[in-house]
Amino acid sequence: MKFNATKSLIVAMASFLMCLWTFNTVHSDDANVALTKEAQAAITPAKALEMLKQGNKRFVSSKLKKRDILAQVKQTSKGQFPFAAIVSCLDSRIAPERVVYQVIGDIFVATVAGNFVNDDILGSLEFATKLVGSKLIVVMGHTDCGAVQGACDKAQIGLLTATLANINPAVNAVRGEYTPRTSKNDKFVQAVTEMNVKLTMQKLRDRSVVLGEMIDKGEIGLVGAMYDVSTGMVTFYEEATTRQP
Ligand SMILES: [Zn+2]
Repeated sequence: MKFNATKSLIVAMASFLMCLWTFNTVHSDDANVALTKEAQAAITPAKALEMLKQGNKRFVSSKLKKRDILAQVKQTSKGQFPFAAIVSCLDSRIAPERVVYQVIGDIFVATVAGNFVNDDILGSLEFATKLVGSKLIVVMGHTDCGAVQGACDKAQIGLLTATLANINPAVNAVRGEYTPRTSKNDKFVQAVTEMNVKLTMQKLRDRSVVLGEMIDKGEIGLVGAMYDVSTGMVTFYEEATTRQP
């Protein structure tokens, strides 16, 4: 009897530890544990979005736990299994990993002034999702974007002219009574910023057959977002293309 009781206790403890391990590995936002292949596979696109939302909530609430970043460096030294990819602006006020409370090996980040996509970035996103298994792509614009302001003003300077040209479709697509249609008009700039996120999402689906198919099959999600440089808050757009698990 005593042996059976001890055995039951050991089994119960093992089950508890297994649950704890699973919780920690899947919820990497709350532990110094890098994602494993199994933990990444268990995350749905909707779950990935929820993890980013919760991460930003923690970021703005300042309830940041001490992280052992070097531990995650060691854990990921043999491989990476990030659960999401973020396309963000170059702006120094945005640190994508930080604002969604993720660290080493948790998410991919592609940054370019004006958070647009071209073939190089789309190819990188195909790598992040099709080959490495990330479940969600976020196109994240931000308030007070200098690149968008430059595009609104039709700024011309060196190679930056060609970079800003990627935002021109958004400038041209914004209709309505915006006067002036320059960086002096904050409402116009914000409207272009939001349009740029929308058009970037559309281009991502249309231009990349690989990503478009994965989104259509529900294998990955695609969502737009806006980062507020004055509050640290990320607003995820309602028209998220994420299917429920
Ligand atoms: Zn910007």
